[in-house]
Amino acid sequence: MLSQRIAHLHPYVPGEQPSDKDYIKLNANENPYPPSQKVLQALKDFIDTSPMQMSLYPDPESRALKRSIARMLNESGGLLNAKKKLPLEITEDMIFCGNGSDEVLSFIFYAFFDSDKPVLLPEHTYSFYPVYGEYYNIPLKKIPLRPDWTVDTEALVSAFKNPVYGPDVSGPDFSGFICANPNAPTGIAMSLSDIESILQNAQGRAVVIDEAYADFSHTTALPLLKKYENLIIVRTFSKSLSFAGMRLGYCIARSDAAAALTRVKNSFNHFPVDALTRCAAEAVCADWRTYAENAERIVRTRDAFSDELRREGWTVLPSSTNFIMVKKGGLDKKPALSGKTVYEKLKNCGFLVRYFAGADTGDFVRITIGTAAQMKILADTIKKL
Ligand SMILES: *Cc1c(COP(=O)(O)O)cnc(C)c1O
Repeated sequence: MLSQRIAHLHPYVPGEQPSDKDYIKLNANENPYPPSQKVLQALKDFIDTSPMQMSLYPDPESRALKRSIARMLNESGGLLNAKKKLPLEITEDMIFCGNGSDEVLSFIFYAFFDSDKPVLLPEHTYSFYPVYGEYYNIPLKKIPLRPDWTVDTEALVSAFKNPVYGPDVSGPDFSGFICANPNAPTGIAMSLSDIESILQNAQGRAVVIDEAYADFSHTTALPLLKKYENLIIVRTFSKSLSFAGMRLGYCIARSDAAAALTRVKNSFNHFPVDALTRCAAEAVCADWRTYAENAERIVRTRDAFSDELRREGWTVLPSSTNFIMVKKGGLDKKPALSGKTVYEKLKNCGFLVRYFAGADTGDFVRITIGTAAQMKILADTIKKL
């Protein structure tokens, strides 16, 4: 009964979602703060005034929502806590919305990457990308990170210049490039000039920058959209906008790239954004300043918690996100406790964190930043490990 295809699928495994509520959950980079009062009120008003919207199909192109997102980006300068507000001029036709950014990413793989040309990506980045590669039969060419876990821009640029695929065969050309920035699971951000050098050397091939965590940083590639038509920036409401349970992601690109994604969507599901999500999300966009305060709080908690772990002899990779990648002991030494051991010990103490099996990642655990109170208990627990 099953297709041959399905035997070759290796699905993405998200952080555990336990059904009992006893754990302090710091394993999926969710936001520890609830949605704003204005968002809750908008949902109540929706039920009181527009119940018929639940009976009818929503706008397939989410036009009002796209306008709200564009307004939020232009008003804020593209980041919840932008250091300097650059004029952005994002328009509604440059935005594409989907059921979580995971779905948007899936459409991006389909629309911009080819099965006879590998996609370039860093060896360690969001682990969903290889899953989509396999799903769509798109080969990948992984470029190792530098020893300090930063993305090796020079190696990427030289790969674009001399496409070598496989041990020493000069191989097929590349379809494009994808990476999270700030990267996951390291938390480390690439500079805008590094992104620009990738864009220049990609020479028109798609360059996808997944900015799932950009709101916790001071870097966004949005200002580069004016100059590079091959740039696609992916965002999610899940992390900085306390919306993981509602499912909304989007990307910003030139309008013809956004239109290509709409073609893919309409070949798969016309209505990925439901009426209730749309209503709540528009209220989030209008109230972005409240979320900016939460993001600021998370960043302060992150920096204080990181300092505390460093004082206890942990290596903490420099994070521009709402999580930290940490290891007991020095960066280039075997850790006193493996990532798996730390994960298990913390689970016994009531904390869920994430570890990634693997020769190098296996030394680390990734800890999502919760509230200051949660991180205080965790720091006390870690001191006793
Ligand atoms: C969390 C995450 C996503 C997925 O976000 P959703 O919008 O919840 O699907 C995408 N990319 C990266 C890098 C992430 O960490």
